[in-house]
Amino acid sequence: MDPSKTLDDVPDNLSAKYKDSFAYLTVRDRMPVILTKVVDTVYRMKNKMRDECGEDTSDELKDITGRLSKLRFQIQTDKPVEHLEDSRTDTQFWNQHHQDLLKLNNGKPIKWFSAAWLYLECYMYRRIQESVELTHKLKGLDVFEEQKREAYHTSEGAVTTLLTYLLEVVGQCQGYSSEEKADKLKQFLEVALWGNKCDLSISAGFSNSQTTCILEQLNLLNPNILADDSQHVIQTLQQKRQTRGQAGRVDIVLDNAGFELVTDLCLAEFLMSADLASSIHFHGKAIPWFVSDVTRNDLEWMLQIMMGTNNLAISTFGAKWQERLKLGSWVFHDSDFWTSPFDFSLMKKRANDLYSDLGEADLVFFKGDLNYRKLVGDKRWDPTDSFSRSLRGFEPAPLCSLRALKSDVVVGLKPGLAEKTEHHDKDWMINGKWAVISFHQLSGHS
Ligand code: MG
Repeated sequence: MDPSKTLDDVPDNLSAKYKDSFAYLTVRDRMPVILTKVVDTVYRMKNKMRDECGEDTSDELKDITGRLSKLRFQIQTDKPVEHLEDSRTDTQFWNQHHQDLLKLNNGKPIKWFSAAWLYLECYMYRRIQESVELTHKLKGLDVFEEQKREAYHTSEGAVTTLLTYLLEVVGQCQGYSSEEKADKLKQFLEVALWGNKCDLSISAGFSNSQTTCILEQLNLLNPNILADDSQHVIQTLQQKRQTRGQAGRVDIVLDNAGFELVTDLCLAEFLMSADLASSIHFHGKAIPWFVSDVTRNDLEWMLQIMMGTNNLAISTFGAKWQERLKLGSWVFHDSDFWTSPFDFSLMKKRANDLYSDLGEADLVFFKGDLNYRKLVGDKRWDPTDSFSRSLRGFEPAPLCSLRALKSDVVVGLKPGLAEKTEHHDKDWMINGKWAVISFHQLSGHS
């Protein structure tokens, strides 16, 4: 970054391109595609809901599709963003934020074709939730549930291979030297990193599951890791373990359900089994979010399914992980802050309890693209700007982002690497084939 510029001079990201399986879409083209798919899903729910709930909810389902169709129309015709009308716990701060944006915009309306992309995309998912919140009987409905469950089932082959391997590693873990532990940790970091390729929001809800063995792909994928700070992760955890005489807490801020969630739980299981963590706190979403993000319900559903499977490795870990959650060595949190429009530099001010709570961890992992965008404020950084600087003071604990690139913001690259990668693959910033493992140590730490 030009040293004469201050952090406030770095502009927001106002548009973005995605390469979907079927076309290049700008984000504003993609939002209506996602909404159309949700409308179809809700429309088809009518009979299913009648069978499951024993009541006729067709009027309320019709209300939901009506609200979603209205939202789609508003996006496509660049109408002003509106206040939320439901009574969820976060409604007031969303509306207050809208008020603040209007003030900043000199009272002119906030519109779909010109406002900051991070805000608009988050707002769209919050409006989808509003369409459900305004019903009486369907408040708990997850309009993306079917897609998430299908994605898990499609990746069952890959889950079997991975968990069979994990079972073997966990069995041998006690005898590992610290070098062997470091090697395995790097492997599970990379598994969790590439698990992040599976994202239904990038494919506009169309199938994007892991169907092949991820372990066999690690060597092939390794050259696509553009920045790799994994040695700092390993050092930090080993040092903390040594200084304190015992392992501490590690947090994982989750991204997607399905195969990616399995890879995150594998990382967590390895950290516990290798005595590099004594507890793991997971952070998921309180409402359905960006199509495939993990809610408490998604985690509970997956563990139930795993326990009922007749594959030994899958059912073993299904039961073990459920037990860990029951006994409290694993904890699931779902603060409303994760589904707010705010980037993480605002967490200390907006959600101080959460910021302090993350401070209890030896290390916090942030999974995926949206968390990355919120870490760096979704601004137009130069790719060679440092990751630590782009966090703009957000440092509750040492932290590490594991992210496959799916949107056009990236920092922490060596000079010339962005240009070289662009030359090799013009879609490198958006197609999920390239990744970063970026680490930040607390400032003042030697
Ligand atoms: Mg996601």
